[in-house]
Amino acid sequence: MKLITLATLAAMNVHVEPPPAKYDYPPQQPYKVYVLPIEQVQKKCHITDKRLLGCVPIETLLLKPVAEVYIRNDLDKELFEVVLDHELAHINGWRH
Ligand SMILES: [Zn+2]
Repeated sequence: MKLITLATLAAMNVHVEPPPAKYDYPPQQPYKVYVLPIEQVQKKCHITDKRLLGCVPIETLLLKPVAEVYIRNDLDKELFEVVLDHELAHINGWRH
């Protein structure tokens, strides 16, 4: 499996938006991170774009006691951490 790196994304002109400081902290509510093949992440996120990196489906924030974070399984470690920070900020209420 070929890993996606930050450099790969830059070459594709795709940028992972860093969260604003006010949302950039470890969530107080429980959450679980699922690392899955892109096809399953697309399904969970209701997003068909193959460049999708991850998401927190809004229904898991509103309807479930444990928030669910989905991240694709072909990211290198550095990019994984960037995407995780981004998604955790969504659990903290960040919308964009
Ligand atoms: Zn986002």
